[in-house]
Amino acid sequence: MEQVQLQSRYELAIIGCGPAGMAAALNAKIRNRDFILLGTESGSAKLGKAPQIENYLGLPQISGVELNRHFLSHLESRQISIVNQRVSAVYAGSRFTLMLTDQVLEAEAVILATGVSMQKPFPGEAQLLGRGVGYCATCDGPLYKDKRVAIISYTPEGEHEADFMATLGAQVVYIPFYKDVGSLDPRVEVKRTMIKGIHGQDRVESLELAGETLLLDGVFVLREFLPAEQLVSGLEMYEQVIRVDNSLKTNIAGLFAAGDCVGPPYQILKAVGQGSAAALNAITYLDERKKNDGEGKN
Ligand SMILES: Cc1cc2nc3c(=O)[nH]c(=O)nc-3n(C[C@H](O)[C@H](O)[C@H](O)COP(=O)(O)OP(=O)(O)OC[C@H]3O[C@@H](n4cnc5c(N)ncnc54)[C@H](O)[C@@H]3O)c2cc1C
Repeated sequence: MEQVQLQSRYELAIIGCGPAGMAAALNAKIRNRDFILLGTESGSAKLGKAPQIENYLGLPQISGVELNRHFLSHLESRQISIVNQRVSAVYAGSRFTLMLTDQVLEAEAVILATGVSMQKPFPGEAQLLGRGVGYCATCDGPLYKDKRVAIISYTPEGEHEADFMATLGAQVVYIPFYKDVGSLDPRVEVKRTMIKGIHGQDRVESLELAGETLLLDGVFVLREFLPAEQLVSGLEMYEQVIRVDNSLKTNIAGLFAAGDCVGPPYQILKAVGQGSAAALNAITYLDERKKNDGEGKN
């Protein structure tokens, strides 16, 4: 896929490239809005795992891989690119600020279409979050210059973060939870092991693995899915999913959510429908915001 030149500001940012995010992007494109779709170029990994889909209206007995391919080629036919970047934090303000893998951008409205994780946090992770535990090594890297860190990664993107930390002079232990690890900076030590827990009083002091304990200053956990309340501080949750109203609005003005991240049923059709509706509601929000800004100037 071609390299996309990023702007520093968009009207709308869509985070997540599964059925919900892709449907949101399609509607934003049809409405001719200035938006960015963030995720992975290959679309939804979860959808790709569905062996046989029987409940997608109009496409009986299609595999998840095939449906994902149809979705991607539909986007391509409308010149919509998925920008291959993970969002590690969203800050609400007069505009939203999004922290990407290696840059920052702003948006007036945001749609969260980040899916849902079934993975539990490691023991100690939540307690030490922000005190040595983090979800973006690139963002916090400079704090760990010449220090000892572990990067636990469920995706190959963690390799860039490990290399980056090594270039800062950190001693890096890389713990992958996926099959094929690429070639890493020779200063990075790779360990395939189990995580028993993250320990420390006020800050991270050690990481307990199967059969050994590493003394460390920081632990980064890079999952495919970042818990939504950790992605956006102040986001209201309900039983571990994002609380939205009938218009898919969250408790933060201008922030919408759609798909698995707002709760069951965990279905493709529901994700597509909600993604489309969230985009249209976000556009209404943007238009009202513009109108109010204009009135404020008169
Ligand atoms: C084995 C299996 C079989 C299934 N079978 C069926 C079926 O037969 N029928 C059915 O209707 N449904 C089925 N499902 C469920 C279906 O796949 C999901 O409901 C659907 O994919 C949800 O779409 P979504 O867009 O909400 O989330 P997802 O498809 O999970 O997409 C979310 C995307 O957001 C990206 N993302 C997350 N966080 C970030 C971030 N911080 N920055 C950038 N990107 C981010 C992720 O990488 C992911 O690609 C199945 C699921 C599985 C696992």
